Amino acid sequence: MLVDSHCHLDCIDLSEFENNFDTLIQQTHNCGVEHMLCVSINLKKYPEMLEKVRAYPGISVSVGMHPMADESETFSIDYLTELASDDKVVAIGETGLDYYYHKDNPEWQQKRFREHIQVANQLNKPVIIHTRDAGEPWLYYVKKKLIYVVVLSIVLLKHRHLQTR
Ligand SMILES: [Zn+2]
Repeated sequence: MLVDSHCHLDCIDLSEFENNFDTLIQQTHNCGVEHMLCVSINLKKYPEMLEKVRAYPGISVSVGMHPMADESETFSIDYLTELASDDKVVAIGETGLDYYYHKDNPEWQQKRFREHIQVANQLNKPVIIHTRDAGEPWLYYVKKKLIYVVVLSIVLLKHRHLQTR
């Protein structure tokens, strides 16, 4: 069994799939992919992404803001918590630090990253971390407590997936 643990199904050009989302999903199944984790990159487009994949039992989602997301986008811990409480949501993110493309807003990225970790710990869900050229500082945010949550949650995710088979 193959599991795609990180894909952005809402960003795929469907012209290669008869402009049909079902065709895309059918082709992934034909290739042996039985489960996919569709990863969110911003909260603005999240409801649309969720709507697209909700009916498919073989697709789970995450919710969060990418470190390269638009800074002006509305964000609140309460809103993220509300969205992430849905059973379809198995992880928080992707979030993290990207100092390769976005060097100029480290404080904003660090704040968002910490807020995502806070929600993940509160809901006991793993965090999907995007990190590029951030060196080791990102590890500062991932303390023992979070790593424990991540490991624990991977086990839970596996278990949950086995139950859905
Ligand atoms: Zn990604």
